[in-house]
Amino acid sequence: STPGERAALSDLPLRDDLRGRSPYGAPQLDVPYQLNTNENPYPPPPALVADITAAVGEIAATLHRYPDRDATGLRTDLASYLTAATGVGLSTANLWAANGSNEVLQQILQAFGGPGRTALGFEPSYSMHPIIAAGTRTEWAPTPRRADFSLDVAAAVAVLAERAPDIVFVTSPNNPTGQSIPLADLRALIAAAPAIVVVDEAYAEFSPQESAVALIDEFPTKVIVSRTMSKAFAFAGGRLGYLAAAPAMVDALLLVRLPYHLSSLTQAAARAALRHADETLASVHALAAERDRVALALAGLGAAVVPSDANFILFGHFADPHATWQSYLDRGVLIRDVGIPGHLRVTVGTPAENDAFLAASKEIVQ
Ligand code: PMP
Repeated sequence: STPGERAALSDLPLRDDLRGRSPYGAPQLDVPYQLNTNENPYPPPPALVADITAAVGEIAATLHRYPDRDATGLRTDLASYLTAATGVGLSTANLWAANGSNEVLQQILQAFGGPGRTALGFEPSYSMHPIIAAGTRTEWAPTPRRADFSLDVAAAVAVLAERAPDIVFVTSPNNPTGQSIPLADLRALIAAAPAIVVVDEAYAEFSPQESAVALIDEFPTKVIVSRTMSKAFAFAGGRLGYLAAAPAMVDALLLVRLPYHLSSLTQAAARAALRHADETLASVHALAAERDRVALALAGLGAAVVPSDANFILFGHFADPHATWQSYLDRGVLIRDVGIPGHLRVTVGTPAENDAFLAASKEIVQ
């Protein structure tokens, strides 16, 4: 036994609103085909590994000092990347970074949410949005999408006018369903929202839709675009998320961030990864083509496939999704049961991984 083991969670003086909740928990299993957390399946190329190793080696000699609290160099590099990717001229003052976009989202809710405030999201969507709302004691207002998981913009505009949420989450492309939102629809939602709109663009690199950064100047007191290096950038283990917004939004987040939250090692590794952006992002086109191949093959097997602009596919219909999920796992293929009735989500992998998934699907999908 281990010290303190006799105390259970239920014995602790936990906040009432956290009692009975479950932590975020995508299974981390050691199986041949890991297609469940929307990572880029391609490891960093040797030149990037060498660059990160050299950068970290240099930083190692300065680890007795705190890191740059404001991550100025990294934010400048992110501004260059996002300017090139979107065609919208952004500067260092428009960018903010943290340990994954989940931390960025938490900082946004710490600054703009909290007790007495409400955050609204269009469900099904990313499961961490309500969990981060709960952690910051922000009331969560779930609003349903259409049965086909698309967003009914006219209905959404009406809900925003009626509920007047302090924060609105719009995930585009949406996780776990895959569709992205055209800029004109987004503009209508933002115009109707009374306050902050967080456009979660974790999968933007995979989508042909224009980024919401194009709307920052039009709605500087409302728009925050959240992004991550965890997906297209193949840097999930590096933990680097960021946002683009008006400089005043960044000033607001400085009030809640912990000092030195981004380690020198993280900043140096992320900057090295950004230097190799072109190489890494070359895989995005291949992954999008693989997504379309897998979607077509699944539909050919008789599955109902939700159209996706991201690096994953939601598909069904299964009478018992959990049992079906287990059938895939029994064949060495880990996919995701996202809790949507009748559906499962698969991440697009390498061609060989996708072939393994499709071979299993041939046996499983009727
Ligand atoms: N937003 C969405 C929509 C996501 O799917 C994810 C990861 N699953 C994140 C944010 C957070 O990713 P990270 O913290 O790794 O940036």
